[in-house]
Amino acid sequence: MKGITNMQDSTISPSVDFDLNGTQHGFLKLPYSHDDSAWGCIMIPVTVIKNGDGPTALLTGGNHGDEYEGITGLLKLANSLEPEQINGRVIIVPAMNYPAVLNGTRTSPIDQGNMNRSFPGNPAGSITERIADYFQRYLIPMCDFALDIHSGGKTLDIIPFAAAHRLDNANQEASCIEGAKLFGAPNTMILFELDAASLYDTAVESQGKILVTTELCGGGTSTPETVALAERGIHNFLIFAGITEGEYDLPQQPTRLLDMPDATCYLQSEHKGLLEMCVSLGDDIHEGQLVARVYSLERTGQPPQQYFARRDGVLAARRHPALIDIGDTFAVLATDVASAASE
Ligand code: ZN
Repeated sequence: MKGITNMQDSTISPSVDFDLNGTQHGFLKLPYSHDDSAWGCIMIPVTVIKNGDGPTALLTGGNHGDEYEGITGLLKLANSLEPEQINGRVIIVPAMNYPAVLNGTRTSPIDQGNMNRSFPGNPAGSITERIADYFQRYLIPMCDFALDIHSGGKTLDIIPFAAAHRLDNANQEASCIEGAKLFGAPNTMILFELDAASLYDTAVESQGKILVTTELCGGGTSTPETVALAERGIHNFLIFAGITEGEYDLPQQPTRLLDMPDATCYLQSEHKGLLEMCVSLGDDIHEGQLVARVYSLERTGQPPQQYFARRDGVLAARRHPALIDIGDTFAVLATDVASAASE
């Protein structure tokens, strides 16, 4: 791999052997010396299930610590998947940013590191950067397929979708989109990222791997329905990767293909105050339509600031808390590809 010749080894050591057949439950051990444990380690749980020389799937949750569908679905998978059921290898890391997961927050309480803005990471950097580096140089190179399960967390609620990105390599892009469709979520999104450079997604894609990511609702909790979406998607993804055999479990209603062409999909507040959403998740919205009002909480008698859609689209995500600050994203609009094509 390019660019790593002068880079030091990771301080993370796995307690599992990724080359052994069978099931191993262990840890990625990251030394962390602090006031409560002078020679302590952060023990990031990992499961490896291997049977022969087939493809490898890397399944991750808890990239953000307050997104519970992936964490829950992958803990359940680690308890249930047997080596005899697979051809190849499944590496499960249910809590990628483990300190954040234990803290119930998006970012790490140790270094405020946002895992999904920390790639390619740094073996001599902060705790979050060290975890990112381990994925970048050790785990991603082992895999052929990667599934990273996100949801909105405490501050967003999002219509459930699996997603892929536009990529320079057309074949890779087509495979990623196919994998996203076969995940079996109600929606499939071609995702436009505001800051792609430091994402885990970009790290996986730039190594030529097939990546599917998701957003499965949010609000900082899970429901029976959203966990079921994650479990169904994991089941389908392993079939897509050629690791398990069986029938795809797809919803009766075909997945709806949505696109986020550019940054006008995102609406951000230029005011601090109280958010009143005027449209609901999943609503069809037209350019110029009133999307939200923001009220000053400093005094009465002030007219609210009004925010209007900058494009037609489906309301794909919204801010979850009602308090809002300058710069907070409160609405994301996505284009329904099928209806856009038929107009
Ligand atoms: Zn996330």
